[in-house]
Amino acid sequence: MSSGSSIIKPTDPGYEKAVFAYDLHPQTPAAACVPTTVAEVQEAIGWARENGLTVAAQSTGHRAVGLPPLDDSLLIRPMINTEPVIDAKERIARVGAGTTWDSVVNAAAEHGLAAMHGSSPTVGVVGYTVGGGLSFYGREHGLACNKVRAIEVVTGEGEVARVDADHEPDLFWALRGAGGWASVVTAIEFELLPYREIFGGASFWPVEASDAVLSTWLDWTRSAPESVTTSFRIMNMPPIEEVPEPIRGQNLVAIDGVATDQGDGQALVAQLDGIAEPLMAQWGQMPAPAASRLHGDPEDPVPAIGAGGMVDGLDEEAVAAFVEAAGGESGSALLAAELRQLGGQLRRPDDSGGVADHIDAEFVSFGVGMAADPAGAAKTQEDLGRLMGALEPWAGKHRFLNFSNPDSSCQQCFGDDSTEALKAIRHEYDPDGLIVPPIAL
Ligand SMILES: Cc1cc2nc3c(=O)[nH]c(=O)nc-3n(C[C@H](O)[C@H](O)[C@H](O)COP(=O)(O)OP(=O)(O)OC[C@H]3O[C@@H](n4cnc5c(N)ncnc54)[C@H](O)[C@@H]3O)c2cc1C
Repeated sequence: MSSGSSIIKPTDPGYEKAVFAYDLHPQTPAAACVPTTVAEVQEAIGWARENGLTVAAQSTGHRAVGLPPLDDSLLIRPMINTEPVIDAKERIARVGAGTTWDSVVNAAAEHGLAAMHGSSPTVGVVGYTVGGGLSFYGREHGLACNKVRAIEVVTGEGEVARVDADHEPDLFWALRGAGGWASVVTAIEFELLPYREIFGGASFWPVEASDAVLSTWLDWTRSAPESVTTSFRIMNMPPIEEVPEPIRGQNLVAIDGVATDQGDGQALVAQLDGIAEPLMAQWGQMPAPAASRLHGDPEDPVPAIGAGGMVDGLDEEAVAAFVEAAGGESGSALLAAELRQLGGQLRRPDDSGGVADHIDAEFVSFGVGMAADPAGAAKTQEDLGRLMGALEPWAGKHRFLNFSNPDSSCQQCFGDDSTEALKAIRHEYDPDGLIVPPIAL
């Protein structure tokens, strides 16, 4: 008989805290649990089975909106050994579930190493990595999930397993791109990068320069060195103190990014310098951890909603369409309408990779806006719809899980063959379908 001692019911103190999601999506699971050991995860899965509940695994709730209603589920949020362990000689990090990127980035930096984090230091390492992991090191080093050496899980059947290329390779394949598949992850091990410092920064111009900045940037991306990964955004900067004065509250256009080769980074900056007079431009060598805050993502929960997709073959017509949908004349109130540069190693299939071993598109498109109240949410949905609609003629074939819309299906992300393979893997490791799939099947 499984113990239910650490199970938190809706009437128990601590329930609200246990179900709170970073994305502020309201969650009302039948019960919650914050296990701190692998044995507690096993117990919790057993308890859910005995009580006729499914199981949803989560870390920070950055993507809580992507899960179906959890009224018949136990929400498990493991917090296991959240102090990362760095093997500096082998350049490997071992990270327990529940850990956020900030602590891994800092622990790696103590050994002169960098980690393949994304644009937010508060995103969970496990969720980010099993969802693919698109980083500012991506064009040189590929998706973060390709750097994973081993993942430790408790399967839907309650079995503890360490999966890697030689052990349970099919589950290892699924867990590198399809989210928390058929199991609850308790720890993950992955390669680190040999960078103590990187070259990085950002330039901001008035929104009127959108056409010129986007055209110049697109031209540059066509022959850009793989040591550089950048992003383009049209932004409505919030009028808050944390934002530097020259760009506070401004409607503007921005390019930011990271170069692992200083000369390549400086060449990009020289190109950007000629476009127009920037409101602010700050580039240079910096300690590697600074890359995790370059993009300026909010670190506290914000009532925001977003939409994203893949785009390919962007031309001058696409520049006009993007600027018309999100530029100064558009009336867009989006915090950001973004294109993230792909290509390089990100676009090359990796024979030893998982279900998402590469992204077959030139850019990820992404829009995000505020949804503090129903009127704000409606306006953001309208702005997102206009942006995504404008990019439709250039839409890529598949979606990338970490930047996909919450209603995306497994087929839209991975195609028919991989979806069938994922279903078979689910049947093998979670035959009763206890674990809630991270994406609609
Ligand atoms: C501000 C912001 C910036 C972002 N920047 C990037 C970026 O630069 N690059 C990028 O690739 N993505 C980025 N993302 C997307 C982010 O990586 C995904 O939303 C990711 O799923 C978040 O993981 P989480 O654990 O924090 O969220 P959660 O909502 O806790 O988890 C999301 C999913 O991860 C899985 N999961 C989490 N923990 C476990 C576990 N212990 N066991 C099994 N499954 C688990 C589950 O499938 C779960 O549904 C960003 C998101 C936000 C909000």
